[in-house]
Amino acid sequence: MLNVLSREEAVSLIKEKTAQLKYKTEKLNIRDCVGRVLAEDIVSVENVPSFNRSTVDGYAVCAADTFGAGDSVPSQLEITGEILMGESADFRLKRGQCVKISTGGMMPAGADAAVMVEHTDCDGSLCLIYKSVAPGENVTLKGDDICEGETALKTGCIISSPQTGVLAALGINELNFFKRPLVTVISTGDEIVNGKPQPGQIRDINSYLLCAALNEYGCNAFDYGSVPDIRESVEKAIKECVVKSDAVIISGGSSAGSRDMTVDIINSLGKAYFHGIAMKPGKPTIFGMIEGKPVFGLPGHPLAAYFVFRLIVTEYIRSVLKMSPEKPAGIGILSENIPSNHGREEFICIKKGENGRLIPVHTKSGIISVLSVSEGFIKIPRDKEGLAAGETAEVYKL
Ligand code: AMP
Ligand code: MG
Repeated sequence: MLNVLSREEAVSLIKEKTAQLKYKTEKLNIRDCVGRVLAEDIVSVENVPSFNRSTVDGYAVCAADTFGAGDSVPSQLEITGEILMGESADFRLKRGQCVKISTGGMMPAGADAAVMVEHTDCDGSLCLIYKSVAPGENVTLKGDDICEGETALKTGCIISSPQTGVLAALGINELNFFKRPLVTVISTGDEIVNGKPQPGQIRDINSYLLCAALNEYGCNAFDYGSVPDIRESVEKAIKECVVKSDAVIISGGSSAGSRDMTVDIINSLGKAYFHGIAMKPGKPTIFGMIEGKPVFGLPGHPLAAYFVFRLIVTEYIRSVLKMSPEKPAGIGILSENIPSNHGREEFICIKKGENGRLIPVHTKSGIISVLSVSEGFIKIPRDKEGLAAGETAEVYKL
């Protein structure tokens, strides 16, 4: 294998080579954009809320009028009216006065706090206040939620229900999204079949696994199916897919053995920028470009193919869709020592034990079920000889 790179080096090469790719955008309605990647910054042109609002049912007051109030010495205020929901409070509250208000009601000018109804006792126009409030207490100020001029959502943000709520609050119905990149998956291998395998044959896992993963990461996946390890067949498939998609993933044949032809084909049709990453699983990984399209060669072992997708291919997707780096889902404490002394960054599937500690899920090469029985994975840095029981590790979701 040539020039094995660290994952960081591999990722920065991918970013560098894909930086100039410009993907199309499209306008979508706020109702149709869950899972889509935003192609513009959303800068608020208004304040949310647009007026000061009470957060309790009770009375809008001048906070200073309640100072010193307590169970035995209530403040006495004059009730001058009620603010109904949805109604504008276009008057000014004077010192010594209060006005009835509901949760979400508009605070009148002059009022700077609200007292909960539970802390009051009212009779006619007299209101006794048994608890003092500080200025701003029980009030959401204009712009407290989202300020005019604030960037509420950034380019590269993936829309899910919370972001949809923000857009609704801003009254934005249509906005620009990146079109989903079309990524083709080609599986290679004489032994790979669809349908019932004969002895010596296996079912195609990676076409399905990788297409599903692509869909999860905001791409449209096209499944080319599997091709035998015949140079002409693999070459024809790659050529065809490069023309019709934004990027191509070739599963299998990425090592340096006699039947591993992916790197040669990429080099004959374009250029392979690296072949080999110091990661486990996933060492035999290729990245190149053919006619300006990114092409990835992934190891055939499904677990390795999955980790290379998660840690390498997604970097291309993040780069072209301007997404921010993946953050760990949380941290955990290891229940046992995990040795790792082969000079490669290692990815270990984990489960949580009854005491909440992380237990490594041991696996052999070529196993797929480990992914679905695990709760996440951790990374062991290349320069560490494993992690010790009791150490903390960042956990990434599967
Ligand atoms: P390769 O990277 O082509 O040397 O393949 C490594 C291992 O992964 C072999 O045991 C293959 O049979 C297996 N493999 C390759 N492609 C697939 C696939 N699409 N689905 C399931 N297993 C595969
Ligand atoms: Mg193969």
